[in-house]
Amino acid sequence: MTTFDFHTHSHFSDGEHSPKHLAKIASAAGIKQLALTDHDCVDGLAELKSNSLGLEIINGVEISTSWQDTEIHVLGLLIDPDHKAIQELLKNQQSLRRERIKTIHQKLCKLGITGLLEYIGNLPCKALTRTHVSNFLIREGHSKNNQKAFKVFLGKRGKVYSPANWCNLNASVSAILESGGIAVIAHPSRYSISSKKLNTLIEDFRNVGGEGLEISYPNIDQTIRKNLKIIAEKNDLYCSGGSDFHSSSRTWARIGKFPAIHDNDKAKTIFEHPNWKSKHSLHS
Ligand code: AMP
Ligand code: MN
Ligand code: MN
Ligand code: MN
Repeated sequence: MTTFDFHTHSHFSDGEHSPKHLAKIASAAGIKQLALTDHDCVDGLAELKSNSLGLEIINGVEISTSWQDTEIHVLGLLIDPDHKAIQELLKNQQSLRRERIKTIHQKLCKLGITGLLEYIGNLPCKALTRTHVSNFLIREGHSKNNQKAFKVFLGKRGKVYSPANWCNLNASVSAILESGGIAVIAHPSRYSISSKKLNTLIEDFRNVGGEGLEISYPNIDQTIRKNLKIIAEKNDLYCSGGSDFHSSSRTWARIGKFPAIHDNDKAKTIFEHPNWKSKHSLHS
């Protein structure tokens, strides 16, 4: 049983639940250490901390990052959410997200679908995502489910696809480091890049100060997980793991539902990072 989860979302980005409810679900699942890592947003951390139900809360964020024409997600764990460096970067990312939603809205209007901005305006989210648009399209009867909404409307070949010019790798990693955090590449096997390109990404990531690799998440193939561990070990990266929990309806990604991050091997876990040891008492 995993007693930690270092990758989860709340309704401040595209998660279903409030941070308060997230703590309830995590606690019921036997979690002891929980990181909230909303997309480009740290606004949920205060609520989570004041409703922690005895959980050890790790400040986190997941930053959408552009690298060589590929969107990479960089997790920042142990950040100080009030630090100027992270605040400034997230302000810009959130503004890019608002602009992108406006563009998507205009494209939807041309298709005769109106009301997106009103719908989003009534949500608690601070970071506007394509999942919110997807939920709107489902509610309005234009799509049956998320997968279809992304395929038909929001994905790269979709009718209203609108790219965003996210910050670069140096910017996301630097903001995380400056605000006292550890930068971790999220779900490395989910990007459509070759293993050669993944190696280049990791080299670039290390060169700008990145220190961690997410090597365990739901439904990860065992061979891939072992390979990621080898990559982490070779590159001296700390291993992390998390469910990427968004919603209770995504039953394949429940809180704490992912393979262990350490077996009997040499790869280091995120608990062994010096910052972790100084900030958090509980280890694995
Ligand atoms: P954004 O960061 O605004 O581009 O939104 C991306 C979010 O949409 C991701 O964090 C996922 O939660 C979700 N997502 C991306 N692709 C898909 C897909 N094909 N089907 C369902 N959800 C998706
Ligand atoms: Mn998401
Ligand atoms: Mn992600
Ligand atoms: Mn995520």
